[in-house]
Amino acid sequence: MRYRLPAGERLPAKPQTGSLSRSISSLTICGVSVRGISLSDQRGLCLADWPAARGVCLALHYSPPPSHPLTDQKKSKLLGEYDLAIVGGGIVGLATAVQMLAARPDTRLVVIEAESQVGRHQSGHNSGVLHSGIYYKPGSLKAVLCRSGKAMMETFCAENGVKTDRCGKVIVATSAKELESLDRIQQRGEANGVECHRIHSDELRQREPAAAGIAAIHVPETGIVDYREVCLAMRRVIERTGNQVLTDSRVDRIVADNSAVDIGLGDRSVRTSWMINCAGLHSDRVLRLAGGTPSAKIVPFRGEYYDLVPSSYSLCRNLIYPVPDPAFPFLGVHFTRMIGGGVECGPNAVLAFARDGYRWRDIRPADLADTLMFGGFRRLATKHWRMGVGEMWRSARKAAFVAALQKLIPSIRESDLKPGRSGVRAQAVSPDGALIDDFVVDQTLRAIHVLNAPSPAATASLAIGQYVVDKLVLSIAQ
Ligand SMILES: Cc1cc2nc3c(=O)[nH]c(=O)nc-3n(C[C@H](O)[C@H](O)[C@H](O)COP(=O)(O)OP(=O)(O)OC[C@H]3O[C@@H](n4cnc5c(N)ncnc54)[C@H](O)[C@@H]3O)c2cc1C
Repeated sequence: MRYRLPAGERLPAKPQTGSLSRSISSLTICGVSVRGISLSDQRGLCLADWPAARGVCLALHYSPPPSHPLTDQKKSKLLGEYDLAIVGGGIVGLATAVQMLAARPDTRLVVIEAESQVGRHQSGHNSGVLHSGIYYKPGSLKAVLCRSGKAMMETFCAENGVKTDRCGKVIVATSAKELESLDRIQQRGEANGVECHRIHSDELRQREPAAAGIAAIHVPETGIVDYREVCLAMRRVIERTGNQVLTDSRVDRIVADNSAVDIGLGDRSVRTSWMINCAGLHSDRVLRLAGGTPSAKIVPFRGEYYDLVPSSYSLCRNLIYPVPDPAFPFLGVHFTRMIGGGVECGPNAVLAFARDGYRWRDIRPADLADTLMFGGFRRLATKHWRMGVGEMWRSARKAAFVAALQKLIPSIRESDLKPGRSGVRAQAVSPDGALIDDFVVDQTLRAIHVLNAPSPAATASLAIGQYVVDKLVLSIAQ
């Protein structure tokens, strides 16, 4: 709220505005934020108290006092006290809980999830690929955590009865201008310790008879899995140790001080010594609730799939990927054999009009305005509008989607495809309009935030969890 204070007039520190008692949260003079002036002075504020401002107009910003879940006993029922609360029951939050319990089995832990079951957003709407780590810049968090995370995930699945298949994949160059990028991917793969071989078009045809390309990389260790199954298995591990996964519980308030964090869930709350934010598509908002300023905003990009009809399954034996555009963190439309049967084709990448915008008609005005008002998004859109229009065209016209798939499998026809699922990616975009490629982990008082965890974060989730737990243990020791 903004007030203008005429010179000489005194304004009370806590004026009544309507029925709400509001306190001064910040002071701006001629657009410049002022520090070092006590705003809690019960005498109120007057230009005379600050001689340098005499003669100019002040704008005072008022905000309601932050609600404190525990002190407002009438409003919130305390559900429990914990050592650690993890916000978000996607694969990253669950894997972090699993790693915390492995490192410190006596931790009293709760995972808080807004939906009625775990893994309902990105973790349950993805391609189900166990990525090898071939694409990522050597030394980046993505490269390091994907490599170690894939091995951890394979072990976790083997120990917990979740089916995986190391079926291998091919990355196919379809024109001479893609050969340089193919070389770069292979160099990265080798630097990251990935087993990968360059193959010629005749070997490509043996592996994937319907695929056409002038050269390819074969990655034998790439696998497939159902990450929803993984999430359910992780939930079982957490609950088996007597810890809790609290579903149907959306975090809407966070108050941290030097001794604890109070987390509000509507009319309920929990108190915890430490908090980890793994809220995926809402990670920036949860970071803000915790009092931090996110270095980037989450922009939701929907990825839509078609499925091969059963009579066309023979078009793809395993996984067929294009050479990705190095300007984007997305891998381009590909063919993926699913572990539960069937073949998915996609995903594309179009702006979603809601953070859970799985269809064009899912529109949340607040989410959309949040994206459109963000300067970073506008800069991104200005730079890559051609690409954006192309993706929207492919989304609207099946024929255009098929044309993109024909680059890899020329014989594919519209009749080979039926509409499939979709997923929404949480992509962090910086204020300068850059798509942030690497994983990003941030900290506020008594809280660690996984701000950016795009693909291959499902593959890497147990390693991300380990990385975050190491940070937490360090913070606890300090
Ligand atoms: C189309 C698509 C294809 C992909 N393909 C692959 C792939 O093949 N391999 C791979 O490794 N990765 C892939 N990824 C990426 C991978 O799925 C994600 O990186 C990963 O699932 C992120 O997990 P998460 O736990 O961070 O987020 P999510 O799974 O989105 O979980 C976050 C959870 O937080 C909850 N939440 C949010 N706000 C609150 C709140 N205020 N209170 C309580 N709970 C809250 C949400 O309900 C949600 O369940 C793909 C992603 C997409 C979208």
